[in-house]
Amino acid sequence: MSVDMNSQASDSNEEDYGVNSEEDEEDDDGDDDEEDEDPGDIADYYEGVASDVEQQGADSFDPEEYQFTCLTYKESQRVLSEEVNNVAALLKVLPAVAKLVLVHFHWQVSLILDRHLTRYDGVGVCSSPLFVCAPRYLFRDYVESHFQLQLCPGADCPIVIQVEEPRARRVQCSRCMEVFCFKCRQMYHAPTDCPTIRKWLTKCADDSETANYISAHTKDCPKCNICIEKNGGCNHMQCSKCKHDFCWMCLGDWKTHGSEYYECSRYKENPDIVNQSQQAQAREALKKYLFYFERWENHNKSLQLEAQTYQRIQEKIQERVMNNLGTWIDWQYLQNAAKLLAKCRYTLQYTYPYAYYMESGPRKKLFEYQQAQLEAEIENLSWKVERADSYERGDLENQMHIAEQRRRTLLKDFHDT
Ligand SMILES: [Zn+2]
Ligand SMILES: [Zn+2]
Ligand SMILES: [Zn+2]
Ligand SMILES: [Zn+2]
Repeated sequence: MSVDMNSQASDSNEEDYGVNSEEDEEDDDGDDDEEDEDPGDIADYYEGVASDVEQQGADSFDPEEYQFTCLTYKESQRVLSEEVNNVAALLKVLPAVAKLVLVHFHWQVSLILDRHLTRYDGVGVCSSPLFVCAPRYLFRDYVESHFQLQLCPGADCPIVIQVEEPRARRVQCSRCMEVFCFKCRQMYHAPTDCPTIRKWLTKCADDSETANYISAHTKDCPKCNICIEKNGGCNHMQCSKCKHDFCWMCLGDWKTHGSEYYECSRYKENPDIVNQSQQAQAREALKKYLFYFERWENHNKSLQLEAQTYQRIQEKIQERVMNNLGTWIDWQYLQNAAKLLAKCRYTLQYTYPYAYYMESGPRKKLFEYQQAQLEAEIENLSWKVERADSYERGDLENQMHIAEQRRRTLLKDFHDT
């Protein structure tokens, strides 16, 4: 029996059984019921993390690992047709009816069978009043209603991503290479969850005027006041004149930056603000938003600058290989380091909207601690990648390992929906 999924006319949206129904939205909100359990002493907690890094095989666990398949238009049609035919046979109804039932239940066959069995009293699923007026659907509607399928958001891309277990995870289209979150089809956003990233991106778009003045490419050296331009991704700056090491973000001395961990990335809220005037509260809210936005934006810029570093590394390797200074395999670790740096910084960028919306409390404290640890190791890695010639391969690889472990630790504890 053949089921045509794409021949429906454009009057297909008479009823919306789309994938974004209320019940689905609720699943996404994993963040709201977060418990503020006491993480205990942060230093103690961190002891454990540090020993994890040493542990053999700690590498094998990646909290972002996710299985998915890229289906062509034909393949996804086949998947849908098979399910329609199966359900039609099981419920003893026409394929057209099975399609409606499937769309209504987001193609969760087990759910349909449960309902069918419990209602097996002569009435049956198919005669429910829900299906009296039969809406007509397009192929796109079928895919969108399916809990395990998602259309690639790439421009005019026909690829459909298929997963076993739908989650807010990173998937990549094999055709147009678009990377996105399986659940919400936006830019991938771990550790932030889907509703929160939507809220944050909307806020950034609404407040773009306010935030514009922030994008400074130059700052003055906090020691000798010479104007310094930032042309690399690393936020550990060194003044070309007085050699002072400082942080681009907070202008703090780099020597103490590592030990005063979250002073740079953590926003210190004013605890007395509730007792102050509305105006003061509005000013405080704006200050807080700009603090997070500035860091979000700065890491985004660093990502772009580090992409240029990656290009330069590629060219350098090419040049060395051409001049018989080793093979590609000998130099590939440089490329891997730059790739890992991008992956870590991407996660770091998305920790800022997460922290912005987080309620104060011990859990936020732990989050900020881990965020600062990740940030410190990423800047160390970026510093070494930009100066790869001055560092041993082992040194660079060790730094990669530490940064990746910090990233995984943060995601393990804070990214799960
Ligand atoms: Zn695509
Ligand atoms: Zn998402
Ligand atoms: Zn200086
Ligand atoms: Zn800083």
